[in-house]
Amino acid sequence: MKKWVYEFHEGNADMRPLLGGKGANLAEMTNLGLPIPNGFTVTTEACTDYYTQGKQISQEIQEQIFAALAVLEEQRGKKFGDESDPLLVSVRSGARASMPGMMDTILNLGLNDVSVEGFAKKTGNPRFAYDSYRRFIQMFSDVVMEMSKSFFEGILTEIKDAKGAKYDTDLTADDLKEVIARYKAIYAEKMGAEFPQDPKVQLMEAVKAVFRSWDNPRAIVYRRMNDIPGDWGTAVNVQSMVFGNMGNTSGTGVAFTRNPSTGEKGIFGEYLINAQGEDVVAGIRTPQPITKLAEDLPKCYEQFMDIANRLEDHYRDMQDMEFTIQEGKLFFLQTRNGKRTAQAAIQIACDLVDEGRITPEEAVLRIEAKSLDQLLHPTFDAEQLKKGEKIGQALPASPGAAAGKVYFTAEDAKNAHEQDGEKVILVRLETSPEDIEGMHAAEGILTVRGGMTSHAAVVARGMGTCCVSGCGEISIDEDAKVFSLGGYTFHEGDEISLDGGTGFIYKGMIQTKEATVSGNFGRIMNWADGFRRLRIRTNADTPADTANAVRLGAEGIGLCRTEHMFFEPNRIPKIRKMILSDTLEQREQALQELLPFQKSDFKAMYEALKGRPMTVRYLDPPLHEFVPTDPADMEALAKDMGMTVEQVKQKCDDLHEFNPMMGHRGCRLAVTYPEIARMQTRAVMEAAIEVSREKGFSIEPEIMIPLVGDKKELKFVKDIVVEEAETVKKERNSNIIYHIGTMIEIPRAALMAGEIAEEAEFFSFGTNDLTQMTFGFSRDDAGKFLYSYYQAKIYESDPFARLDQNGVGQLIRIAAEQGKKTRPNIKMGICGEHGGDPSSIAFCHDAGLTYVSCSPFRVPIARLAAAQAALNSKK
Ligand code: PEP
Ligand code: MG
Repeated sequence: MKKWVYEFHEGNADMRPLLGGKGANLAEMTNLGLPIPNGFTVTTEACTDYYTQGKQISQEIQEQIFAALAVLEEQRGKKFGDESDPLLVSVRSGARASMPGMMDTILNLGLNDVSVEGFAKKTGNPRFAYDSYRRFIQMFSDVVMEMSKSFFEGILTEIKDAKGAKYDTDLTADDLKEVIARYKAIYAEKMGAEFPQDPKVQLMEAVKAVFRSWDNPRAIVYRRMNDIPGDWGTAVNVQSMVFGNMGNTSGTGVAFTRNPSTGEKGIFGEYLINAQGEDVVAGIRTPQPITKLAEDLPKCYEQFMDIANRLEDHYRDMQDMEFTIQEGKLFFLQTRNGKRTAQAAIQIACDLVDEGRITPEEAVLRIEAKSLDQLLHPTFDAEQLKKGEKIGQALPASPGAAAGKVYFTAEDAKNAHEQDGEKVILVRLETSPEDIEGMHAAEGILTVRGGMTSHAAVVARGMGTCCVSGCGEISIDEDAKVFSLGGYTFHEGDEISLDGGTGFIYKGMIQTKEATVSGNFGRIMNWADGFRRLRIRTNADTPADTANAVRLGAEGIGLCRTEHMFFEPNRIPKIRKMILSDTLEQREQALQELLPFQKSDFKAMYEALKGRPMTVRYLDPPLHEFVPTDPADMEALAKDMGMTVEQVKQKCDDLHEFNPMMGHRGCRLAVTYPEIARMQTRAVMEAAIEVSREKGFSIEPEIMIPLVGDKKELKFVKDIVVEEAETVKKERNSNIIYHIGTMIEIPRAALMAGEIAEEAEFFSFGTNDLTQMTFGFSRDDAGKFLYSYYQAKIYESDPFARLDQNGVGQLIRIAAEQGKKTRPNIKMGICGEHGGDPSSIAFCHDAGLTYVSCSPFRVPIARLAAAQAALNSKK
C-alpha cells in the first residue's frame, strides 16, 4: 500500500517534492528537537491523485488521514470533537516551491456547538473559546465553502458597533455567542445546509479545499510567473493548534533572520500579543517590532532568538519563520528560506560567503536570476506604492516603474518630453516602429493590444523602458486623445503610473527612485562569469544600447536588427522611396542614398563594441511596415517621387498582405530585390574595414540572413553577399575575414539544418518566429487567447517568453545536431526573446549552443542564469 500520509517525525528537509516545503521543514525541525506542535503531512502525490480521481480523495488516502489523526489524538491526549477537551487542528497548504499567500489555510478546525463548550470549560476562558469558534466558522465558510468574507465582516462590524467595541478583542464571550449564532444563520441561508458539526467532515472538506486551492486563479498566475510546474501539487499539513489568542502572555508573529529587503544582518519581524496569525496579515491592529518581545516576554524572546540562529545555521540561509506563544510557551509553526529582494539576495549571499558558510558557487546558485531586473530599472518608492490606487492590470512586458503624464501619439510624447521636460507615459492602441522616438522619450508605455513579444514589448525591453501591454480593459479613442480604465477617464496630460514588474496600472503619479547597484552585485557577476560556458551577447541596434549592454557585460552583439535603423525620421523617406520604386534604377538610386546612413550606423556600432563581434541581420520585416499612413507623409513622398498622392496610396495598398508575418519578408526580400542585400553588404564591409583601420580593432563581420527555409535560398542570397563583399575588399585592398550565417526561425530550416549548414557558418535561433511558426499562432495576437489556455491548463506559460522545450526545443536540438554533423565547429546562438529567460538559457546550455543574445538590460540575468545552468549540470 502506498504511503500518502507522513507524521512529522517520519520526514526530513530533503523530502520537499513529496511533503512540500512547509511539511519537509516541519519534519526537519521536529527531528532537530525544536518546539513544533505535533502533526502530519498529506503528500503532494495525494494532491495529484485527487486531481486524477476527478477531484475525489480516495478511500485509501482518507483512511491514512484518519489513522494519522488517531495518532495525533493519542499524542495530545485529546479527542477530535470531544465535549470536554477537544483536539483542534490547523490545515495548511505547502507546495514544493513556496507560494506565499497563494493557497489556503484553515485554523481552529474541530470546533462545533458541543466542543466549543468543552473548550471553554477546559481553558477556563470562554471568551477565547467562542472567539476561536467564530474565527473557524468564518474561515471555513470563506476558504472551504467559498462564501464571501463580506457577510461575516459585515456581521462582526454590526455587532461591534452595537456593543460600542473598538477592537475584536473588546467583544465579550456573550457578544461572541451572538456573532456565532448570526454566522451560522447566514451560513445556513447561503449554503442551504447547517454548518457542519462533524469534525471529520470538516477535516476532509478542508483537505479538499487546500488541494483545490492549488488550482485557484492566483496560484495559476503565480506558477506561471515563477516557472512552477502545474503537476507538482500541494501537500496539506494538519497540525495540532496552539493559541496565540489566549491572553496577554500569548501572541503570534513572523520574523526573518535578516532583513528581506536590504539583506542587513539581524532579526527583522513583528508580532501581536493576544492574536492569531490572520490578525497580523489583516492589519486590523498594528503589530509590534519583534525586538519589543524582549520587553514583553523576555524568556520567550531569548528562546526565539536562540532557535532562529540555530535554524539559520542549519539551513545556511536567511530564514522566514512563523511562531506562536501560548501562555508563555513558544512554538515554531514554520520556517523556510525567506523570499527577498534582489538587493537583499546579493547582500545575503556575499555575507554568507564572507562568513564562511557557503561557497561562491552556492552564492551564485542562491540568487534568482530574473530578480536582477529589480536592480537595473527604477522602482517605486515602497511607501508611496502602498498609497497608490490600482486601476487595472495587463502584461508586465518590460520591467521598471514609471510615472508621468499620458500622451497618445509618439510625437506628442516626444514634444512634451523634449520641449517641456515632462515625464510622459505613451498610451497607444498598439505601437508601430514609427513610434520609436516617442517610446524613447517616454518613462513608460501602455498599450491596449499586443503580447510579451509584440513590437512595444521587444523595443521597450531593449531600451530598458517600462512597458505594460495588452490591457484589453482600456477603451481608447486615440483621435480624441482620451482613454478610460477602472472607472476613470484620462485625457492628455493626466497622470498615471505603471509597474512593469507586475503589470499594475495606477492612477496618479507614484514617486520612483533610481536603482542603485551595490558593489556586491559586481562580485556575484564576476563569480558567475567564472562558472559559465555560454557566451553572452546582446540584441542592440543603436550605439547607445550597445554601450549600455557592454557596460552590463555583453561580449558582443548577437542580433543587430538593421531595419530599426531605417525608422529614424531622416531615413524613413528614403526607404519608402526604395519600396515604391518601379524600376531597378530607381531602387538602386534610393538605396544609394541610404548607404551612407547604414554605413555610419555600423561604424558607430563597431566603435561602441570596441572590437567585440557583431552579427548584422539583414532587412527582415514585410515592406508595408515602412509605408506612410499619415496624409502629410504621403504627400511628401508623392512630391519627392514625382507621383500623385493617389498613385502613392495605390502602391501602398498593393503592398498589403493577408498574412504579412508569413509573407514577403526576411531573405525573400533579398531574393526579390538583391540590390538591398548588396547595399547592406557594402555598408557592413566598408564600416568594418574603416573602423578596423581607424581604431586598430580586428573586426570580422558576421552577416546573418533571416527567415531562410532552404539551402538554395540561402545560397542565392549568399552569392550576392559574397560577390559584393569581395568587390569591396578589392576596392579597399583589404583581406578582412567575414562570416555568413543564417537564422533558424522556420521549422523547415530546423529540419533541413544539416543541408543549410553546408552554406551557413553559424546559426542563430530566432525563437520568436520559430515559436510563432511552430505553434501556428501570431506572436502579436496570441496574448489575447493564451489566458484561456492557462486557465484550461493546456499551457502553463507564455511560449513566447519561456521556450517550449518539448516542441520548439526539439526543433532546436535537431538543428543543432544536424548542423554540427555537417560543420563540427559551427557557432550557434539564440537571439529570440528567450535568450534572456533563465529556464530557456538552461536549455541552451544543455543543447550545446555557443551563446545567448538578449536585450541589454537582461545581460546580467543571462550571465547569472548561464552560470547557474553550468553549475547545475555539473551537479
Ligand atoms: C526571432 O524571430 O526570434 C528574431 C530574433 O527575429 P525578429 O524578432 O526580429 O523577428
Ligand atoms: Mg524573426
